[in-house]
Amino acid sequence: MEIRERYDHDVLVIGAGGAGLRAAIAAQEEGLSVGLVCKSLLGKAHTVMAEGGIAAALGVVRDEDNWRVHFRDTMRGGKGLNDYRMAQIHATEAPDRVREMEGWGALFDRTDDGRMNQRPFGGHTYARLAHVGDRTGLELIRTLQDHAVHEGADVYMECTIVKLFAVDGRVAGALGYWRPTGEFVLFRARSIVLATGGIGKAWKVTSNSWEYSGDGMAMAYDLGAELLGLEFVQFHPTGMVWPPSVRGTLVTEGVRGEGGILTNSEGERFMFRYVPEMFQGDYAETEDEADRWVGGDRVNNRRPPELLTRDVVAKAITAEVEAGRGSPHGGAFLDIAAKRSPEYIKKKLPSMYHQFKELAEVDITAQAMEVGPTTHYVMGGIKVHPETAETAVPGLYAAGEVAAGLHGGNRLGGNSLSDLVVFGKRAGEAAAKSATAAELAEISESDLETAITESLAPFQRQGGHNPFEVQEQLQRVMQDKVGIARTAEGLQEAIEDVRGLRGSLKACSVSGDRAYNPGWNTWLDLRSLLLVSEAVAISALGREETRGAHTRIDFPETDPEQQKNNTLVTEEDGRMVARKDPIPVVPEDLQTLIKEGV
Ligand SMILES: Cc1cc2nc3c(=O)[nH]c(=O)nc-3n(C[C@H](O)[C@H](O)[C@H](O)COP(=O)(O)OP(=O)(O)OC[C@H]3O[C@@H](n4cnc5c(N)ncnc54)[C@H](O)[C@@H]3O)c2cc1C
Repeated sequence: MEIRERYDHDVLVIGAGGAGLRAAIAAQEEGLSVGLVCKSLLGKAHTVMAEGGIAAALGVVRDEDNWRVHFRDTMRGGKGLNDYRMAQIHATEAPDRVREMEGWGALFDRTDDGRMNQRPFGGHTYARLAHVGDRTGLELIRTLQDHAVHEGADVYMECTIVKLFAVDGRVAGALGYWRPTGEFVLFRARSIVLATGGIGKAWKVTSNSWEYSGDGMAMAYDLGAELLGLEFVQFHPTGMVWPPSVRGTLVTEGVRGEGGILTNSEGERFMFRYVPEMFQGDYAETEDEADRWVGGDRVNNRRPPELLTRDVVAKAITAEVEAGRGSPHGGAFLDIAAKRSPEYIKKKLPSMYHQFKELAEVDITAQAMEVGPTTHYVMGGIKVHPETAETAVPGLYAAGEVAAGLHGGNRLGGNSLSDLVVFGKRAGEAAAKSATAAELAEISESDLETAITESLAPFQRQGGHNPFEVQEQLQRVMQDKVGIARTAEGLQEAIEDVRGLRGSLKACSVSGDRAYNPGWNTWLDLRSLLLVSEAVAISALGREETRGAHTRIDFPETDPEQQKNNTLVTEEDGRMVARKDPIPVVPEDLQTLIKEGV
């Protein structure tokens, strides 16, 4: 047996983004030993890339804001598929989690009179995002990391977990390998929190980094957890479209939050034509009205239509391009220079200024940006208990982007960072509680040996497929057939293609040794990416309607009947199947709140 290193912890947290760090802090506060594992270096998770801000009804900029309005916005943004209890907990607890981070040293931007500032974002009734310029994630990760390390978490960096184990039905440990050496390492734990983030690397055009290969979802599924709502993948409306090398890189919604407007090749501010019925009355109808709002006149609070939810804006840009009114490189123009001074832009959006200057040679204080949809976030993920974040596998918890429920059919910007700290804390607390009642279990040596042999299989083959080619083919299939606009025919083809690629993966070979071997690392990631991609495609095929981020060209209407169920992917008789999962019934008082407001 070639495992030289073995570590035992009460709670093992896999993933060191915002959700994992907050879970680790919570478990440590219970006096337990906590191990924190991450695939890259500490501080390099997606959380650090977050730009626009964290949503919490602090009521600073508008004192009418409170959890009830935030709850309503989240449910309406999610098109009724959210787990209402998660949305309620999230809206209620987010303000405390933000103030807590401020207490731990996070320096948020201030208002002129010294209070924490909040900026407007799509789908939020009031300015609600606490932020640090357009580098909010950096400040959050710094704060959480300092606190977690200070509290005593044992951190294992550049360690990729490839398999979870259960003993007598309860999660018991995780097998990983060190990227620098390729050596295996075993972690045993009384409970485990998964905080491994999303799946964006399955698509060609994406704002996500190489770390988002869906490992957490795939490993949890293998152990018997259920995957919920995976047809809902968010295509953020504003990614860079030019030059090709940076296509997909995010352009924060903060640009529109600060007054940026979208125009087409005819110079038309087209979003006025795309306000959905359910939001009419909430958004400005003329440019003049929108400008007054940006200028600070918030009396009737009718926001510019660029601040509609992401699904609506992404589809509008796509429709403009299809109608022949796109920008030269197939997007729309996003113009902040038309509405704000160069000083203001550089102060509020410093990263965007540098990003466009350096990557596209565009000065956003004087010129419009070219933007178009990019794969950004997955609303679906592992099904969890709304209060404790426990999965269907006893002792296994999930929080952050890897988990499902809160965002339903579409996530509002800023609601991810708040999700991480609200449910990260809850997951850490519940994992700690359950750890104290559980024993460390023995993981059988033969199970370990099987997992290692499977992980090393491509080294045993020669002249097989190249993992990078499989990855490229997968990204093309997902982009073309499981992208922003879908059809039954395309999805069926995608399912066949992905299954075929799973076969190709089994025939891949890699060479060289195991230390920093990108071919082997990619092959291992592909095991997860392919599994999750199939789950996304079969979920999307089953939902025969258009709702939120899921658009079916062959079923363009939203069907009220289909609001009753979510899609659940499970393994039955060795096959992946998608079935309907009834949405928890929303209590009457909350239903009234969603429909009629506060
Ligand atoms: C460019 C960009 C801007 C964004 N801006 C905002 C914003 O302004 N507001 C907002 O609310 N949201 C924003 N988001 C979304 C938000 O940042 C993410 O949804 C969120 O940070 C996810 O946090 P997480 O803790 O779930 O995962 P992450 O922060 O991605 O952390 C995942 C962790 O899991 C580890 N990991 C993964 N697989 C394994 C494995 N097999 N073994 C070991 N470790 C593993 C990774 O190394 C990493 O440490 C943005 C996202 C992007 C990409």
